[in-house]
Formats: sequence, structure tokens, C-alpha cells
Amino acid sequence: MKKVRYVLFLFVIFGCFFVNSFHVDAVTLRQLYNELASLEKSYNAAKSRANLSQAEMNNIKASIASAEAEIKKAQQEIIAAENEIQKSEKEIETKKEETNQMLLYLQLMNSHGDSLLEYVMDADNYTDFIYRYSVVTQMSDYNQNLMDELNKLIEQLNARKVTLAKKQEDLGKKKNELQAKYILVQAQAKAANDDGQSVAQQIAEKKKNIDYYKSKGCTMDMNINNCTGIAAVDGWVSPLAHYYQSSAYGESRGYVHHYAVDLAVGEGTPVRAVANGKVIQVRSGSCGGLVIQIQHYYRGTDYVSLYMHLLSGNVSNKQDVKAGQVIGYSGGGPREIAKYGDSCTTGAHLHFSMATGASAIQSSSRKDTTFDPVRFFPAMKGIGSRL
Ligand SMILES: [Zn+2]
Repeated sequence: MKKVRYVLFLFVIFGCFFVNSFHVDAVTLRQLYNELASLEKSYNAAKSRANLSQAEMNNIKASIASAEAEIKKAQQEIIAAENEIQKSEKEIETKKEETNQMLLYLQLMNSHGDSLLEYVMDADNYTDFIYRYSVVTQMSDYNQNLMDELNKLIEQLNARKVTLAKKQEDLGKKKNELQAKYILVQAQAKAANDDGQSVAQQIAEKKKNIDYYKSKGCTMDMNINNCTGIAAVDGWVSPLAHYYQSSAYGESRGYVHHYAVDLAVGEGTPVRAVANGKVIQVRSGSCGGLVIQIQHYYRGTDYVSLYMHLLSGNVSNKQDVKAGQVIGYSGGGPREIAKYGDSCTTGAHLHFSMATGASAIQSSSRKDTTFDPVRFFPAMKGIGSRL
């Protein structure tokens, strides 16, 4: 173990604050079931909110589709009106041409005696001429009437086009409004789904806790702290109020690795239980000095914390401890070496380790289920980190 200089900061008030803030209230299995029931209620509420939003989304979708169909219909009607207008304009052109030719013919008949004569001569008699004349003028009148009618039709079609364009515009606006509403409802549905998912996670965790306490033989109204001996952890407390981290988790030590962290601190510093739990080991030896291990239960999983090179201990095996409770005093320096003949330390520090499972950690050079304590203690970032 490295010998490291350290600076001791005495933030006693801060330390006390930490100890007090992680007090755990007594809880019974019945309370957990009640909490589960209320979670399930809010899960169902979220789910029905999501279903309602989905139904509304379907309605809006249908309205958008019908608006789109109406827009398409209006567009087609506009095209049809335009085609009819073109057709009528063409007919007017034709009739105009016919009328012009007839009028021209009549003009010719009136202005040139020869032509009139020719025409008269072509006629069997004067009555025939009069008849011919009247036919020609009637035909031109007829054409004029037709043109007037066609012009009227074009006017009507143009008016229809304007109405249809207005309708198309209104439908487009309606469609945009519906699309905006759809996005809003979609967001509501997503929020409801997210709510449901987060509540579902809490339900799963709650059920896991209930199963755990039931497996430990807890009855409905028994304080779960009493029936398991290990209270659920709702927060983690640093094992030391202040330290200088002198080794990182998993650090190589020649042919072995160090699956713990070393926290340099003066001998005799109070060492605290990192969470509520039960002491599962108090031993002493020539490598490690006094060692204490505590079992914890946190969010459905068992954990063990290990404290090594202690100068002295405050707790005994199978004792229940509270988060932040002083379980002993740190060693690792000359006083502890003198007391236990600890050959595995070279300077004052706390060797601290965390593992999953309910069994005591066997060896710091075996990884087993140990993990980097930074997971629960953000200040243990690596060598040189301080608290
Ligand atoms: Zn160590």
C-alpha cells in the first residue's frame, strides 16, 4: 500500500449532516403493498391516458384523410371546370368564325351588285332570295345567341373556379390545424407512455423488494428492519468524512491487482458504515489488521462493503448498523502495525472495497463480484481524488 501525504479537512458539521440525512424509517410489508397498489393505480391511469390519446390521434388521422380527399376532389373539379372553359372558348371561336363569314357574305351581297345579282340569279326567284337572306341572318343571330350562352357558361365556370379555390384553401388550413393538433396529441401520448414506463420500473422494483422481504419471512405488519436484519438502503454515506484517494480500483500490483480503493487518512479517524446493514465479518490478522465487512440491501440487490487496516472496531458480528454509524477507527500506520503486526500496509489509510452478493469478500487480489466504489461514491474518481 502506498504511503501518501494527505491533508485533513475538518468539515465536522458537513459530516454530521450526511450522517443524519440517511435515516431509514420503519417500513412494513403492508406499507410496501400499499405503495405497490398506488403505483399500479398511477400506471393504469397513465395507460388509459395513453389509450385516450391514441384514440384521439386515430380520429384526427381520419379527419386529415377526409380533408385530403376533399382537397383532391376540389382540385379535380377545378381541372374539369378549366377544361369546360377551354372547350367553350374554342366553340365561341368557331361560332365567331362562322358568323363572320356569313356577315362577310351578306356584306358582299349588299355592296356588290354583281354578287347580289349572282346570288339573285342563283335563286330561283325573289322569294327564294328573301328566304336565303333570312336564313343567313337567322343563322348569324343563332350563332350570336350560342356565343352569348357560352360566354355566360364561362362566367359561371370562372365563378365556380373561385369558389372551389376558396374551398381548397379552407381545407388546406383545416388540414394544417389538424396536423398541428395531431403533433400535440402525439406528444401527450408519448408523455403518458413514458410515465407508464417509469412507473412500471418502480413497480418492478417494489415487487422485487416485496419478494425479498417475503423470502426473508417478513409478515405483513412486521418492521422489515427487524425481520431481515438488513434494512433497505436509500442512500450511501462516504466511509470517511475526508480522504485523499491513493490508489484506484483494479490497480496493478506486480502480478496481482488491487480490487479496492485506498483512502489515505490519519490513524484514528472515524470510519463509518456506508449504508444501513448487518455486520457479517469482524476479523483481525497479520495482513489487513482489523477487518470489518457489512452486508447491505439496495434496490433489490445484496451488497457487501469491506473496511481494512482498522486500528479498532466499534461493532460485533451480526450487529445491525445504520448508515453513517462509526464502526471503528482507521489504521494502516505505525499504531495499527504495532497492534496487529499488519504486514500488508505501508502507511496510514483505509482500504475500502465494495462487492455485490451477500458473502464476505475473500481477497482483495481476486476480482470476484467486487466493483469500483465510484459507482456509489462519486468522489472516488481515482488516484488524487479528495473528499
Ligand atoms: Zn488497499
